[in-house]
Amino acid sequence: RHMEVYVSRFPGHGMPGAVVVVNDTTEIRQAERMRQDFVANASHELKTPLAVIKSSVEALIDGASEDPDILAAFLEQVAREADRLADLIKDMLSLSKIESGSLALEPRVVVLDRAITDCVERHHPRAETKTLTMVEKPPSDAPANVAAWADPDALRQVMDNLVDNAIKYTPNGGRITVRWGATTETVSFEVEDTGIGIPETDVNRVFERFYRVDKARGRAEGSTGLGLSIVKHLVQAMRGQVRVNSKLGKGTTFRVTLPRAGSA
Ligand code: ADP
Repeated sequence: RHMEVYVSRFPGHGMPGAVVVVNDTTEIRQAERMRQDFVANASHELKTPLAVIKSSVEALIDGASEDPDILAAFLEQVAREADRLADLIKDMLSLSKIESGSLALEPRVVVLDRAITDCVERHHPRAETKTLTMVEKPPSDAPANVAAWADPDALRQVMDNLVDNAIKYTPNGGRITVRWGATTETVSFEVEDTGIGIPETDVNRVFERFYRVDKARGRAEGSTGLGLSIVKHLVQAMRGQVRVNSKLGKGTTFRVTLPRAGSA
């Protein structure tokens, strides 16, 4: 632990004794280190696509643009990396807004199965391009209109991120199942995939900022390493929890629990 100790006497008052102030600065130092890490990671993440853009453009200036096929390939690469920069900046801004507490969440009644159906429908086109089967599984005794007490936009962002990852990290022909359920106090939903899974040593770290299990693969898939950290913050801000369970080579399940509307 880091302590700062200040000792001040009472000079000139002719009084005996002194005041001793002990400050535990461990947390302040930790916060400062996290901030420095974030800036270092963020700069690194932003530099990589910029370097690719710069080298592509330089190759074009040096004459690569004379061949129409090469020209097209380089321009596509520039566009792709520009998209990546935009994604990174968007995610960093969301994260910094959430962490600084300046994102005002407005919880209200959100009917769960409707939110899930909407999310599954939004992702169908992408799942189809990978021939993934996507199914929604309500509980067998599905009660009508089960609702979460949640901010609708934040909940949507959480679901989108989890389903997006499931699609990204599941090879062609796989299956994604979205289940949900409720207790008297809480509602929960699960996104299960039959994808590549996460090694045991990494599974507890996936919610960390910029953490990727496989940097090279992640980059190719257009990943920022920020999605799950945003998910965790948003879920916690809504007084919920998110958990992950994974088996390498078999698949991954993310489970989110939120307060049930009307249970408070
Ligand atoms: P990214 O933008 O890299 O997907 P996330 O924060 O969403 O960032 O995820 C962090 C890392 O966790 C990913 O890079 C990936 O290695 C791993 N991961 C997340 N979801 C899954 C999943 N459904 N299956 C396997 N690995 C996953």
